[in-house]
Parts: sequence; structure tokens; C-alpha cells
Amino acid sequence: MKDEILNYFQVLKKRGIIGTSYLFIGKGDKVIVDVAKLISCDQEEGFCNSCWDCKRIEQGNHPDLFVIEPDGFSIKIEAIREGMRFFSLKSFRIKRRL
Ligand SMILES: [Zn+2]
Repeated sequence: MKDEILNYFQVLKKRGIIGTSYLFIGKGDKVIVDVAKLISCDQEEGFCNSCWDCKRIEQGNHPDLFVIEPDGFSIKIEAIREGMRFFSLKSFRIKRRL
């Protein structure tokens, strides 16, 4: 499944048709981080793991990446509102919000 998702976004990247915003729902799976790198990295195919964008995404502190995590068993409404505000703002570096 991971390869299928990465391949899908690789095709979009090659064709230059990656959307401006993506919302991924999951439990912090590595595939989400890899897709974020693939979308953000300037490398033509895949991602480099060494550029500024790849490193920031790996560390979870890229300015165009917003992660909402549960607080206990639920996600607080304020976290949802903060996420919605994030998506309403213009992107900082990669012309996309993740
Ligand atoms: Zn990179």
C-alpha cells in the first residue's frame, strides 16, 4: 500500500499536477511523512532526505506542514480550528499546505 501511495504522488509530481492542499488522516504512518517529502522536495523523482524541506518534514517542523494529534482519546476542537486556520493561510515555502 505504501508503494502504491508513493507511486501515485510520484505520477502527480512528474505531471506537475500536485494539488495545493492535502489532508492526510492516519496514525502518523511513515508513508505520510514520505508523501510530504515527495511533494515538497525539488528532486525530480522521489525525495532526497537531505534538503531543507525533507529535513524539516522529518523533524515535524516544516512551516507548510501541520500535524493534529489526539489529546488522549479525542482531538480537541481548538486543534481542529487551528488546523483550519493553517489551511486558510498562504503557503510559506512549497506552495502547498500539508
Ligand atoms: Zn529533499
